[in-house]
Amino acid sequence: MTEEKQIDKSKWGFYTKSVHVGSEPCPATGALVAPIYQTSTYTYENTTEAGQIFSGEKFGYLYGRDHSPTEYQLEEKIAALEGGEACKTFASGMAAISAVALAILNQGDHVICSDVVYGGTYGLFEKIFNKYGVEHTFVDTSDLEKLEAAIKNNTKMIHIETPANPTLRLTDIKKVSEICKSKGIKLVVDNTFMTPYFQRPLDLGADIVVHSCTKYMGGHGDLIAGAVIADEDFIKNGLHEPVTKIGGLISPFTCFLVKRGLQTLGLRMNQHNKNALEIAKFLESHPAVEKTIYPGLKSHPQHELAKQQMTGFGGLISCELKGGLKNGQAFCDNLELISLAVSLGDVGTLVQHPASMTHKSLPREERISSGITDSLIRISCGVEDTKDLIDDIKQALDKLEI
Ligand SMILES: *Cc1c(COP(=O)(O)O)cnc(C)c1O
Repeated sequence: MTEEKQIDKSKWGFYTKSVHVGSEPCPATGALVAPIYQTSTYTYENTTEAGQIFSGEKFGYLYGRDHSPTEYQLEEKIAALEGGEACKTFASGMAAISAVALAILNQGDHVICSDVVYGGTYGLFEKIFNKYGVEHTFVDTSDLEKLEAAIKNNTKMIHIETPANPTLRLTDIKKVSEICKSKGIKLVVDNTFMTPYFQRPLDLGADIVVHSCTKYMGGHGDLIAGAVIADEDFIKNGLHEPVTKIGGLISPFTCFLVKRGLQTLGLRMNQHNKNALEIAKFLESHPAVEKTIYPGLKSHPQHELAKQQMTGFGGLISCELKGGLKNGQAFCDNLELISLAVSLGDVGTLVQHPASMTHKSLPREERISSGITDSLIRISCGVEDTKDLIDDIKQALDKLEI
């Protein structure tokens, strides 16, 4: 018998955790990269052993919808990076967000959600929970007075996204968490945009963090996945029913891809951040650009808060061009290197024009009142060379008639 080496992984830095936690070699074969356990069910020595596993007396696997070994490895890595006790992964960010809401909210409860929030999350409260007697209020969560005024006796959960998509408005996580703690409300933070490399909501007092791993966590635009990070009791007991009864499980292959992507999360985020800051400064100086929104710019109204609660500013920029809808579309159509695509957090730079794409079906007044003007462009800066990206953006802007 070899002696078990006891390593205190919690002392490791972010990069070391990214590479090594949950990425141990395969104990059976010594394969440096553990295999993908592509199985839907598990076999046991005998009924006695199976009984012990099913009753929870002994650790073991039950069925593919419950957990897989590849999933445990991924969850260990994500929990370590986010600084939480435990993690549960899902087939998508929306599966993760809806499982959290299902775990917390009961009929007659009330939920508060940022008014600028991922469209799927908006729809979840507006179209689905609504049907089952859960009330909701959408409010500007960056305004603490408005937020406090929206709290009712039956408010059980506040869901925030910071920075919010696509206006890049911030919410003060620490201050909101203090309000939540004083009223026994659970604070859920969607940390997709920042990732734990730049923002750690649990350290700032949030109860639960959710992620779309489809974005920076996976990082390569080749998968859909989600994660929830919280204390062990919530992950094991709170999420148990939504996980096992609703499903929404992540496949072992997707776990493998997210795990691989996470090994370079910090490295990628540095380059996303560097590119975004340079591009934002360039946009701010170009005559065809009306306004550039990026938390890393001094001109961002919440730049001080950004510096307080984030250790970087991320890869997303929004900007408004001169010349309305026409120039919003023309700019995107003029790009040569940068791809016209929704989603974000990919190694490649992506651009989208909400007014003619994701928010096209919204009435114009409603769209504009939530900050999505005719010429608003969202850029998800990739990890390419800064100069190549700026050259492409410059030629696309120079062609606009202003
Ligand atoms: C994409 C996204 C989601 C939804 O995640 P999916 O993986 O597409 O289900 C939720 N929140 C934010 C902020 C997102 O960008």
